[in-house]
Amino acid sequence: MAAIDALPPLREVIAAHDLGARKALGQNFILDLNLTARIARAAGDLTACDVLEIGPGPGGLTRGLLAEGARHVVAIEKDPRCLPALAEIAAACPGRLTVLGGDALTLDPLPHLTPPVRIVANLPYNVGTELLVRWLTPPVWPPFWTSLTLMFQREVAERIVARPGGKAYGRLAILAQWRAEAKIVLTLPPEAFTPPPKVSSAVVHLTALPAPRFPADPAVLARVTAAAFNQRRKMLRASLRGLAPDIEDRLAEAGIDPRQRAEEVPIEGFCALARAL
Ligand code: SAM
Repeated sequence: MAAIDALPPLREVIAAHDLGARKALGQNFILDLNLTARIARAAGDLTACDVLEIGPGPGGLTRGLLAEGARHVVAIEKDPRCLPALAEIAAACPGRLTVLGGDALTLDPLPHLTPPVRIVANLPYNVGTELLVRWLTPPVWPPFWTSLTLMFQREVAERIVARPGGKAYGRLAILAQWRAEAKIVLTLPPEAFTPPPKVSSAVVHLTALPAPRFPADPAVLARVTAAAFNQRRKMLRASLRGLAPDIEDRLAEAGIDPRQRAEEVPIEGFCALARAL
């Protein structure tokens, strides 16, 4: 039996290290190792990759990633109580797990990672969207990661993969799908977690495209989508009035009917408008 399979069940790890879940840290643990293995498999072939994991907690997903053959896992955990439990996993997989104690919002893991890098995480919900937006808006594209496999509240996951024409479609969908392929690969009921959260969750898998789908300046595209979706019920000629005095002409140049509302316009249209501006 591999040393990783000989580690005690997660319930025992939690009891031994007194890891009662803390709400302030978004701690909803997955204790079923079959489930963490499924999440790790959803990330694709890990054998030739470094994996960045945020918020390993007691290490259920970390164990899944290592068991699926990840070359090297770099895990950032803010709760110092979890570090001894993670050290036991590192000892079972010599040289394959580096644990960084600290806040993922301020710690730079790049010096510890060798490309290609996949990011896999059961994210704390309070920092999940912020980290996703950061990973999707690096100074240069392609980014340092090749794929993101991330747990979100189901409603947030649906906003990431949304297509035009519905309420879920907005800035997050455009940001995610402009330069990445995004799909939901797993949905989980609250009972999959200990303690169960109030809502269902879903795992989103995003693969970085080598280049954006349509050319546009990222800053201009962000300004256009912010203005359009901040007043999503208005027609674009009204919601975008502040962007240019001749906004109706710019919309026409981009091939967009100025009477349309933001949620009706596909990513290609927003990129054309960003270019026209
Ligand atoms: N990955 C574990 C699992 O699947 O069971 C735990 C997931 S739990 C939803 C989120 C984890 O992120 C917790 O262990 C929490 O302590 C950690 N965490 C919360 N905020 C963090 C931050 N800013 N940086 C790093 N880790 C954080």
